[in-house]
Amino acid sequence: MDESFDVAIVGAGPAGASAACGLAEHGVKTIVFERGEYPGSKNVSGGVLYGHDLAQILPDYHERNCPIERNIVESRIWYLSKEGGYSLSYRDRSFSEERKFNVFTVGRARFDRWFAEQARRRNVLVVCGTVVTDLLQDHRNTVVGVSTDRPDGDVYAKVVVLADGINSPLAQKTGFRPEPKPHDVALAVKEVIELSEDLINERFNVAPGDGVTIEILGEVTQGMDGVAVIYTNKTSLSLCIGANLADLAQRKIRPYEMLEEFKGHPMVAPLIKGGKPTEYLAHWLAEGGYDALPELSGDGFLITGDSGMLFNALHREGSNMAMTSGRMAAETIVEAFKKGDFSRKSLHGYVSRLQDSYVIEDLKKYRRFGPFLLGHHELFTTLPKLTSYAAREMLTVDGVPKKRKQQTIWREIRKHISRFRLLKLLWDGWRSVR
Ligand SMILES: Cc1cc2nc3c(=O)[nH]c(=O)nc-3n(C[C@H](O)[C@H](O)[C@H](O)COP(=O)(O)OP(=O)(O)OC[C@H]3O[C@@H](n4cnc5c(N)ncnc54)[C@H](O)[C@@H]3O)c2cc1C
Repeated sequence: MDESFDVAIVGAGPAGASAACGLAEHGVKTIVFERGEYPGSKNVSGGVLYGHDLAQILPDYHERNCPIERNIVESRIWYLSKEGGYSLSYRDRSFSEERKFNVFTVGRARFDRWFAEQARRRNVLVVCGTVVTDLLQDHRNTVVGVSTDRPDGDVYAKVVVLADGINSPLAQKTGFRPEPKPHDVALAVKEVIELSEDLINERFNVAPGDGVTIEILGEVTQGMDGVAVIYTNKTSLSLCIGANLADLAQRKIRPYEMLEEFKGHPMVAPLIKGGKPTEYLAHWLAEGGYDALPELSGDGFLITGDSGMLFNALHREGSNMAMTSGRMAAETIVEAFKKGDFSRKSLHGYVSRLQDSYVIEDLKKYRRFGPFLLGHHELFTTLPKLTSYAAREMLTVDGVPKKRKQQTIWREIRKHISRFRLLKLLWDGWRSVR
């Protein structure tokens, strides 16, 4: 541990492992610290991963036995009331043929371990079971290394990459990132439910190896701004549900209670029937978006992935932004080594790279989406109720003429939501995604 390194990386999640692989390819002497017993042991994710971003780091990831669970061929969106709900889905032959492994599911415990192993094979030193407790700074406040919880634990490095996730006491302690405000963070719980491979194929109508994602909005989050998902793995389903921390604190609802109710929903219960819960986890999500981004580079350090709030809440894309930001951090550091300059100015190339990529462009595009959801709680209360009522009325064959049904539905809608509020909802919604 007395040795000094070119680069020290805090965290062996997708951001840290990507940066490590990129640096090792250029012979940069790199050490990664991971507080978990092994990479992935402390990580939670719905489990959807993106082939494009991974291939930019490991083009042959598929031949390296990347632990893929299922290749996603269909995406469903559900809008649920308590009694029922709408389902919109899209399946495409190209997702299972030409563009195989566009999106796939992984178990993060296995995937993160595999990813870190790829870095290890390129001579990166991955040190597990070690918490980075502070950053070392010189008299000019330039970061020059990390302190760890090991007895001989100070390690010097020319650059430190923070890849330590959303719950980063380190970034807060050193003042590099303000503590996220409650409305910038969601708290999600995840349960993994074991089911046989055949049952999953049958219930989701997929061929062996293919899978489905379901993103769910509506009353399932009990009136709070939140979302639930169901993802298919080889022999299990991942169920996640979460809500904005500000809403959770105000409503005093426990996420696991929300999960239990979600599992009993008439559209969810048949999918998980007979399954055995095997894992239960809870984690934060970085939902602040563009307006909550901290300064992502400084003298001697860079912030990547969730630690830098790089998460697209609408599309549930975080692992791809983590991998791409890790890759771009590595590219910038390689350039800095060529110049021998690790100052804020030199490392700012990282931010420019992110700005020129889909990462910042997407975060900017959806910067109004979070405030839109928080400002329109009717999306999680009145609206799912009313839309379900409308569908139920129209689909109930009881001798009442359809025109009269439509008038009754419209009257009911007007009773609960004004025309102005409805127009505002549509206008704000359109502006938040355009
Ligand atoms: C319930 C849930 C579902 C999600 N579903 C998806 C999904 O389906 N698809 C998707 O793309 N994204 C999803 N996300 C988001 C995704 O998980 C993150 O965006 C992604 O993991 C970010 O990667 P990262 O490397 O930045 O951080 P992390 O994956 O959080 O990794 C950080 C690592 O740093 C380690 N660490 C932290 N502090 C220290 C320290 N001081 N010293 C040493 N090690 C430290 C941690 O143990 C961890 O291994 C989900 C998130 C949640 C909570």
